[in-house]
Amino acid sequence: MITNRLPALDWVTEDKEIEKLSKDYYWFSPLLKQALDDKRAEAVVRVRTREELAAVVSECVKTKTPITIRGAGTGNYGQAIPLQGGVVIDMTAMNRIVSIERGMATVEAGCKLLGLESAAHAKGFEQRTYPSTFRMATVGGLFGGGFGGVGSINFGPIYAPGNVLSLKVMRVSETPEIVELVGDECLALAHAYGTNGIIVELTIALAPKQHWNETYASFPSFDAAMRFGAAFSAAPALAKKQCGIFASGFTKYMLLLKKQLTPDLPYAISLVADSGEAAYRGLVAAHGGTVNHFASAEEAASRGRYAHEFCWNHTTMHVLRLDSTFTYLQCILTDPVKQANALYEAMNPRVMMHFEFIRDAEGAIACGGLPVLKFESREQIDRDIATFEANGAYVMNPHVYEVEEGNSRQIDPKQVAAKQRFDPLGLLNPGKLRGWQHRNTL
Ligand SMILES: Cc1cc2nc3c(=O)[nH]c(=O)nc-3n(C[C@H](O)[C@H](O)[C@H](O)COP(=O)(O)OP(=O)(O)OC[C@H]3O[C@@H](n4cnc5c(N)ncnc54)[C@H](O)[C@@H]3O)c2cc1C
Repeated sequence: MITNRLPALDWVTEDKEIEKLSKDYYWFSPLLKQALDDKRAEAVVRVRTREELAAVVSECVKTKTPITIRGAGTGNYGQAIPLQGGVVIDMTAMNRIVSIERGMATVEAGCKLLGLESAAHAKGFEQRTYPSTFRMATVGGLFGGGFGGVGSINFGPIYAPGNVLSLKVMRVSETPEIVELVGDECLALAHAYGTNGIIVELTIALAPKQHWNETYASFPSFDAAMRFGAAFSAAPALAKKQCGIFASGFTKYMLLLKKQLTPDLPYAISLVADSGEAAYRGLVAAHGGTVNHFASAEEAASRGRYAHEFCWNHTTMHVLRLDSTFTYLQCILTDPVKQANALYEAMNPRVMMHFEFIRDAEGAIACGGLPVLKFESREQIDRDIATFEANGAYVMNPHVYEVEEGNSRQIDPKQVAAKQRFDPLGLLNPGKLRGWQHRNTL
């Protein structure tokens, strides 16, 4: 047993805990639930230092043991679930903030976003983009498995060039060395589910800290709400950080937002700086909307929840908590108002439309979509994906655990090349990177 060979390490011994640390939020998808329920690690270790990490990796190489890297385990695609057993390496104790200076933060990969945010605030900065799970998620997990979220309306996905500046990556070998990647070189490890290198440290760009207000507005129609979102995102001088648009069907599932929403009306949840308040109110009124709530983020925090915890995939979670027969899809709209309206006409109310305004990696205004729907069958999911695609949406299927399905659906030769460089034996999260099977023909 590997645990006996490295007795000084912090191995998880309780069976229940091993099961828990072998799983993530895969259960948002009934199809992934079916496929992954019985998958679990043989051992889980919480590494505290690079030396401990290197010791486990070296031992795994000697014994050809699969390795799955885990941040906080909040991913949705079964990203951190080991398909072939082996060792799960929990990175959350490697969480040091190395430095925050000149608008950049260097952190160990297991650093939690929440802790980084407080430390950045103390120096006058804030994170450019973070997921709605920012209380739990790690910086390494965001880059390895996430997209972005709050702030992506300005800065795009976490992998947009300029957000992540450099990485230190451990190579999986008997003598695991650490290699530094800079700029575009880092991108091959983005959203690769820890299949092609172990990220030990990241340097990310920050934004100047601002005072954010959370605001909820209701609109007379879904079209009006989408048009508001498009105008708000495009307004060049309006300081903003978030804008999600939700079909009216969601209001009955957001039990904690009774005061902030008008029942059965579509709504927008936005983050606006103090300087943006008048422009924001003007845009809401111009689209026939009503501002139901406008208050500082501190006020929301004092009530225990931020507005973004009702956005992104938290929206899906609030619905699932009340009715577990729902599930969701994920997509990108490149022509948001036109495509969202067409999808709404074709699928509402069976599919509840939810779109988040973002910039794509090239800077164009787009929407990330997380529509929520009743789960019927795999065939129904496939038909719904086809309808989304027929209306111009680009779907990232959240019911499949392969890296390629959560990205461009194509094998990315750069991801595979990085795996050849950092994981030549194919031990990292085996079974997730489809391109690895084709490495000799790329
Ligand atoms: C309710 C809910 C809401 C969510 N909202 C958002 C959202 O707004 N935006 C968004 O992008 N995502 C969202 N997610 C998904 C997820 O929370 C985020 O992507 C988060 O950043 C993942 O971080 P984590 O630390 O939990 O990573 P994990 O789930 O632990 O890991 C994710 C992947 O990254 C890999 N990984 C982790 N650490 C490393 C490392 N050091 N080196 C290499 N690979 C590594 C893992 O192997 C795994 O494949 C949401 C999920 C839930 C359940």
